[in-house]
Amino acid sequence: MNQNRLKNSTASVESTELMPVLFVGHGSPMNAIEENEFVLAWRELGKSIPGPKAILCISAHWETSGTHVTAMPKPPTIHDFGGFPQELYNVQYPAPGSPELAYDVKRIITATDVGLDEKWGLDHGAWSVIRNIYPGADVPVIEMSLNYHLTPRNHYDLAKELAPLRKKGVLIIGSGNMVHNLRMLAWNHANEPDYGFDWAIRANEIFKGLIRDNNHKDLIHYRDLGNEVQMAIPTPDHFLPLLYSIALKEENESVTFFNDKQVMGSLSMTSIRIG
Ligand code: ZN
Repeated sequence: MNQNRLKNSTASVESTELMPVLFVGHGSPMNAIEENEFVLAWRELGKSIPGPKAILCISAHWETSGTHVTAMPKPPTIHDFGGFPQELYNVQYPAPGSPELAYDVKRIITATDVGLDEKWGLDHGAWSVIRNIYPGADVPVIEMSLNYHLTPRNHYDLAKELAPLRKKGVLIIGSGNMVHNLRMLAWNHANEPDYGFDWAIRANEIFKGLIRDNNHKDLIHYRDLGNEVQMAIPTPDHFLPLLYSIALKEENESVTFFNDKQVMGSLSMTSIRIG
C-alpha cells in the first residue's frame, strides 16, 4: 500500500491548516429528524467549518474488542435503537466511506493494531449528527470503535496519534454525551428545553471547567471526581468520545462550547469545538 495515499488525496488542503475537532452531544436519535435548537447548531457547524476531505467519527455506539475502523466504500446506515417512529427507521445517510482514510488510521496508530472493518457502517451516534452538519452526504465518513478493554488513559493516548489527520483535511468528531444517565431520565420534563437535575448541572460544570483549564488528567481520572460525576457517567461509552476530542487539542487552541443545555434531567447536550 502507498503510505502517502491520504496525503496525496488531500493535496489541495494547506498543510498548515488545522481542521477543527468536535465533541458533539448527540442525545436522542430523534434529533436526526426533529427541528430543534441543537439541530440548528449542527447545521451552522457545516457552514462555519472549512470543507473537510473526510470525517472520522468516534461514536459512543460502537464498542468492540480491539480498535477497528470502518473500511467499506459504502457504509450502511445502522438503525441501532428500538421503539422509535418508522420515520426514523426510514432515514438513510448515504455518505461514502473512505477505505483510504481507514488504512491511514491503521498506519498512523502505533498503540494497537487497528482492524479494518467491513461489517459495521454508520450508527446513529454518527449519522444522526452528521446528516445535519452535511445534509448532502457528500463528505466521506468512517467510524472508529471504542475498545472496551482499554483504560481511559489508553483511549486518550491512542487519540493523540490521530493528530496528523487534522492537517490533512479530516474532521474528527467524538459523538457521545458528557452527562448521560438514561435510567434517571425525567420523562415528565421531556418537553422542557433546558431541564437538568442539580447533580447533572454540577457534573456538567465540572467537565466544562476542566476542559477550559486544560486539565485533561482529571478528566481521564473521572472516577475520582465525586458522586455527581459518577451519576453522570454510569457507563463510560458516552464519555470516552470526549477524551478522544480533547486529546487532539493543541496547547494554545481555543475551545468553544455550544448546545450547552440539559435535557430530561440527566442528559447534557453540551458540545465543544476545538480550533
Ligand atoms: Zn447515544
